[in-house]
Amino acid sequence: MTKRKTPVSFKEMMQLTLRGFRIWWKENPELILSVLICGVVSALTPYADIWLLARLIDEIAGERDPQVLTTFILALMSLGAVLSLLCAGLSRWKNVHLACLWHTQNKVFIKKLLSMDFADIDDGHVQELRSRIWQNTDSGGWGLYKLIYSFDAIVRSIMSIISAILLTASLFILPVKASSKGLTILNHPIFILLIIGVMFGVTLAAPLLSVKAGSYWVKYADENKLGNRLFGFWLGNLGNDRSKALDVRIYRQDILSRNYLKKYNPFIPSSKLAKAARGPMGGYHALSGAVSQIFVGVAYIFVTLKALGGAFGVGSIVQYVGAIIALSGSLSMLIETLGELRNNTPFLRTVFAFLDMPNKMEQGDMAVGQNSDKEYEIEFRNVSFKYPGQKNYALRNVSMTFHTGQRLAVVGMNGSGKTTFIKLLCRLYDPTEGEILLNGIDIRKYAYHEYMHLFSVVFQDFKLFSFELGQNVAGSRNVDLDKADQCLRDAGFEIRFDKLPHGLFTAIYKDFDEKGVTISGGEAQKIALARALYKDAPFIILDEPTAALDPIAEFEVYSRMNQMIEQKSAVFISHRLSSCRFCDDIAVFHQGRLIQRGSHDVLVSDKSGMYYRLWSAQAQYYEK
Ligand code: ADP
Repeated sequence: MTKRKTPVSFKEMMQLTLRGFRIWWKENPELILSVLICGVVSALTPYADIWLLARLIDEIAGERDPQVLTTFILALMSLGAVLSLLCAGLSRWKNVHLACLWHTQNKVFIKKLLSMDFADIDDGHVQELRSRIWQNTDSGGWGLYKLIYSFDAIVRSIMSIISAILLTASLFILPVKASSKGLTILNHPIFILLIIGVMFGVTLAAPLLSVKAGSYWVKYADENKLGNRLFGFWLGNLGNDRSKALDVRIYRQDILSRNYLKKYNPFIPSSKLAKAARGPMGGYHALSGAVSQIFVGVAYIFVTLKALGGAFGVGSIVQYVGAIIALSGSLSMLIETLGELRNNTPFLRTVFAFLDMPNKMEQGDMAVGQNSDKEYEIEFRNVSFKYPGQKNYALRNVSMTFHTGQRLAVVGMNGSGKTTFIKLLCRLYDPTEGEILLNGIDIRKYAYHEYMHLFSVVFQDFKLFSFELGQNVAGSRNVDLDKADQCLRDAGFEIRFDKLPHGLFTAIYKDFDEKGVTISGGEAQKIALARALYKDAPFIILDEPTAALDPIAEFEVYSRMNQMIEQKSAVFISHRLSSCRFCDDIAVFHQGRLIQRGSHDVLVSDKSGMYYRLWSAQAQYYEK
């Protein structure tokens, strides 16, 4: 999507840029207002100075009236003081909002991520888009960021251009005196047009050269992707992420091989970007600077010659030269900024490719409860599933039914499709083929969040949050303290719980509270189980959250949960058959297919079946 190298049209540039502005405006209108007002005032400020200074010099070169001189000096000083104060106040206002830019941009992307289909978050293409967006922002402020700084530059340059034109108009109108002989050519309209043409040409050339230099960032953005990512991982993630600290210490030498990093490093002298900076990119930058100086030279010569010819006094030299240079600078800034916006367009394509990802899951609107009175029957009807971008099926032709109050054990070897079955059941993904029905109706027709409310799942790689224990159990800031307390005890967390200094108010981990407690893997599992109990959903699913325990301990946890969940439906998943032998209903998965179903006694009596083979192979663990 973002790899297309289609040229950027003016229309596309404007459309994407305005869409980006609308996002900023929606998130923080004060940011836009502060940039606008501060830009207008700070752009006009120098011209007031230039105009007054010119009048002061004229007076010094002319009448030298002490009273007039005093008035100009006082006006210059007081205007300077007032405008400086005003600019400082406005800058502060603007800077406060600019300081939140990163945070605001993050908010936009995080909101999108939180509302995105799980299938998309899991998808490599989306991860690629996210990663590119961060990289583009980090490397050159490209994307949404660029829009704010461009807006600032556009406001200041436009205001500055208007003021400078007002101050310079008379330069071209006031004639040199007829007595100044050779200099009268300066009055000729063609000469004036020529001078304006030269100045305009030079003004245009400088920013275009600069934009050309900037385009090398776009050119090498793709090539620097891996290097940027490696450095982000090396400098950020690897050192900062506590969960990796142990493995980093053991495997550091291999992971951080300097040669490997060097190979992809975009920031070393031998990288393509660095070579371009020394070569054409740097050349364009240098040329742009040189061309600007030519402009200053032409302006000085023209203004001085007109003053020599008596067109205006010495004070006006200051006014015209100051205003022309400012005009040229502002025009350059405007053109350069428009060029940057053009260069920014491919980066905005990436941003919107991400923000425009449709939400496919939230199409249905049917209420879950409307067909029955809390009686649920779920049916998989010939369901097959491939993960996005994968060739092979993870599930193949699965058909099964189960209903409220049932206990279902899903067993099978690693990779047999057990977790995939659960992810489809909870609608984290939709089937590639076939359908899943709730009380006879395709689950896609139900309101997504209502359907999700039917399930409490503890996944193998569940995560707790660095909040208070009670909030972790409730999954919310608002905690029913008695209920959370009971769930933790039911989940077997009692002993540690009674020792915690602040009970349910104890922070887990130390990210937000230095008095937070560290918990073991086993304790975390119990908290996760308590969280599942607290949600009080009609279906409870345990997808091997106990994998770190030995088979006997896992059996005990599962049996205990089985007793606690009373009338609810439950699905227990394990690759260890012993853990689920208390279930009357066992589904055996193998290579993505449901190959057997029945009670333990029935399944184990089929000596040619997979269940018997697995049971015999694992028997050593539970002979006791
Ligand atoms: P189990 O839970 O029985 O261990 P899974 O359902 O996790 O098995 O995996 C079934 C198959 O799907 C495996 O071949 C696995 O490699 C593949 N798979 C699982 N998750 C993904 C994913 N996010 N993307 C691609 N393939 C996956």
